[in-house]
Amino acid sequence: MLNVFKLSDLDQKKISELCLRNVDGNNDIKNTVADIIEEVKLNGDRALRGFAEKFDGIQLQQLYIGKEEIDRLALHVGNAEKQALQLAYSNIRKFHEPQLISESKIETSNGVVCWRETRAIEKVGLYIPGGTAVLPSTFLMLGIPARIAGCAEIVVCSPPQKDGKVNPYLAYCAQLLNIGKIYLVGGAQAVAAMAYGTESIPKVNKIFGPGNQYVTKAKTIIQSESQTAIDMPAGPSEVLIIADQTANAAFVAADMLAQAEHGVDSQAVLVSDSMDLIDQTQKEILKQIKDLPRQEIAAKAIENSFAILAEDLNLAMGFSNEYAPEHLILATDTWESLTSKIINAGSVFLGHLTPESAGDYASGTNHTLPTSSFAKAHSGVSVDSFVKKITFQHITRIGIENLGPTVEVLAELEGLDAHKNAITVRLKD
Ligand code: NAD
Repeated sequence: MLNVFKLSDLDQKKISELCLRNVDGNNDIKNTVADIIEEVKLNGDRALRGFAEKFDGIQLQQLYIGKEEIDRLALHVGNAEKQALQLAYSNIRKFHEPQLISESKIETSNGVVCWRETRAIEKVGLYIPGGTAVLPSTFLMLGIPARIAGCAEIVVCSPPQKDGKVNPYLAYCAQLLNIGKIYLVGGAQAVAAMAYGTESIPKVNKIFGPGNQYVTKAKTIIQSESQTAIDMPAGPSEVLIIADQTANAAFVAADMLAQAEHGVDSQAVLVSDSMDLIDQTQKEILKQIKDLPRQEIAAKAIENSFAILAEDLNLAMGFSNEYAPEHLILATDTWESLTSKIINAGSVFLGHLTPESAGDYASGTNHTLPTSSFAKAHSGVSVDSFVKKITFQHITRIGIENLGPTVEVLAELEGLDAHKNAITVRLKD
């Protein structure tokens, strides 16, 4: 059952405590992950084989599957599933394609022109989770923007399944994305392999993708210790639902359980101005959870979740902005009056008929999103995540005559005479 708190009873300290999630207080995960990273740096492929045996229970001959095996596996995908994956592919592509924009050149002073051009990150690594559930949807969410951006090399890692291969749906996504190799490596070791390189796995410039706490911790460690960047910390999933009396408790409970089934460390938070809705939602959770195959996982996540009774929806939104959820659902008829008050959230779902599952799979938006309050400063994955913006400038004779004296003064006041001279020699020329 959900713990219920009354917002007016909570002081700032308690609110901050409720907003904290997946904190590795004793550094247990950090220490485990740091050891895994060191082992991969030291022993490369041999370490990866060892971890596959230890964590995934499989002895791997080969650390990847190639094009032929991908094509063979994809044959097992039925027509209905192929059509669903194709429609998801098409909607995600439609939504992401316009994100690749070119900017105009700006003449900042007479004869001084500046602009930005976009270049794809050359080598990217995509992590596709595959521990408790395999997520082909994540493959599309990462692969499509990488292809739109034009990344030259796309390295893909996903944990090996019990048969030492990948699940056929991943293979089908690889075909849709024109990717001919998938490395059978999961967890922190996959992140380490892509950050430092091994005999088989190339080092990449940036690593993308969600994962459990081991994957997320590995990404945060390597970003400060290697020359590889990361998209963002995208850890265990979470949803916050703001709902009022107009909401349907069965829908709210279904959305909370959809989040809870991800993992025991997932969190689903309900904030409402109606105690009646909170009670009804509790009853619905108990009813619906019985039919879920992953009910054990969902039940643990619900234990780790809570509901808040707020005096009104504006105060509910205040709590949500403090929590900064990965997913925010506004289950109220009055959602339009609330959207401008959202400050922190990864992705937002509006009204009673917009479940978060739609965005997880097929509406078009990206599902790789910042968790654990990182939505306060990070955006979800988009085409922007796969490109760099390089600035350019060109100055003419008139331009240097106009701007030069200003730069000379500024260089002089900072005591950087060589900077000043780089202007002066040109002005004298
Ligand atoms: P995963 O692929 O992230 O992790 C599986 C791997 O974890 C295993 O292969 C193993 O190598 C490693 N591992 C397992 N136990 C370990 C241990 N005790 N010590 C060290 N390593 C260990 O798959 P998962 O576990 O199913 O997790 C997927 C996660 O992705 C979920 O938490 C889900 O909520 C999250 N997710 C987040 C987003 C997002 O955008 N934030 C999107 C989708 C999924």
